[in-house]
Amino acid sequence: MPSFLEVRRGFCMKNIYAIGVGLIGGSLAIDIKTHNPDVVIHGISRKDATLNTALALGLIDKKATLDDIEHADLVIVSIPVDATVKLLPTLLDKVSDDGLVVDAGSTKAAICKVVENHPKRRNFLAMHPIAGTEHSGPTAAIAGLFKGKTNIVCEVEKTTFKLQEKALQLFTDIGMRIRYMNPEEHDRHIAYVSHLSHISAFMLGKTVIDKEKNERDIFDMAGSGFASTVRLAKSSPEMWTPIFKQNKSNVIETLEEYINNLTRFKALMQDDDFEAIFDEMKNTNHIKDILNGII
Ligand code: NAP
Repeated sequence: MPSFLEVRRGFCMKNIYAIGVGLIGGSLAIDIKTHNPDVVIHGISRKDATLNTALALGLIDKKATLDDIEHADLVIVSIPVDATVKLLPTLLDKVSDDGLVVDAGSTKAAICKVVENHPKRRNFLAMHPIAGTEHSGPTAAIAGLFKGKTNIVCEVEKTTFKLQEKALQLFTDIGMRIRYMNPEEHDRHIAYVSHLSHISAFMLGKTVIDKEKNERDIFDMAGSGFASTVRLAKSSPEMWTPIFKQNKSNVIETLEEYINNLTRFKALMQDDDFEAIFDEMKNTNHIKDILNGII
């Protein structure tokens, strides 16, 4: 029997099933295991090779399959968001009455919608850990990825209180701040601060590659400014295409505003209005104050 303190601290989540053992699933597994050495992390993935890598790297303790989900205290789903939407109802069918399913997907409206009327909706918690890198797969998993980062939790009131309490304790223990939002609000805001950044990095990379593909030497001139701005263009298309698809209307709105700003900048250049260009940049320097303490 776990002690009262163990229950309070979420340690009674002994069997944790990680569905998806890439950057996010693998990194969560590392941190949860570090803080709770007694838990057993069971890994589930499409490809056996991925699971073998996760096992060899020590991200998971055991390989498992979807048929084992009934034994789970906690299931963490960290696979592309279209796959999450397809799999979630089945997972809720399979999980025990005391088990909790959480997802780490970068969109929240479609994911919350697909389970809204599921009889076990109270065994699901929707979240989005705002942490990551441009790398993917089990080899990208790193310790401490979530320390000091925000975990956005949606529709918390729809999850059984004792399950949400255990899960939130687990994520707080690995260093995360919890913030609550509704799924639509999450998707609207994240389109600006994450999805648009990825599109602009992909298109910056494309612009330079298209222009410079026959001049490899030019990349010797690419300083840290280019490297840091284009970093996100290394991200996985398998993960990002379903995100853009699920958040299409918000993403299009951000793109319209971004394209307007680029068009205005171009017009100022064409008009030799460098005073206005200076002011545009000066006003945008305010981003330093906004981001101070965040990154
Ligand atoms: P990842 O490193 O590419 O790992 C994806 C995992 O999902 C792998 O284990 C892969 O296993 C599996 N997978 C891929 N396609 C699948 C499919 N169609 N059906 C079932 N499984 C599939 O991706 P990640 O960065 O960890 O992202 C996982 C989730 O976290 C996504 O929902 C993403 O939106 C969210 N997220 C990402 C970030 C970020 O910065 N990367 C941040 C926060 C949240 P196999 O090799 O066996 O296919």
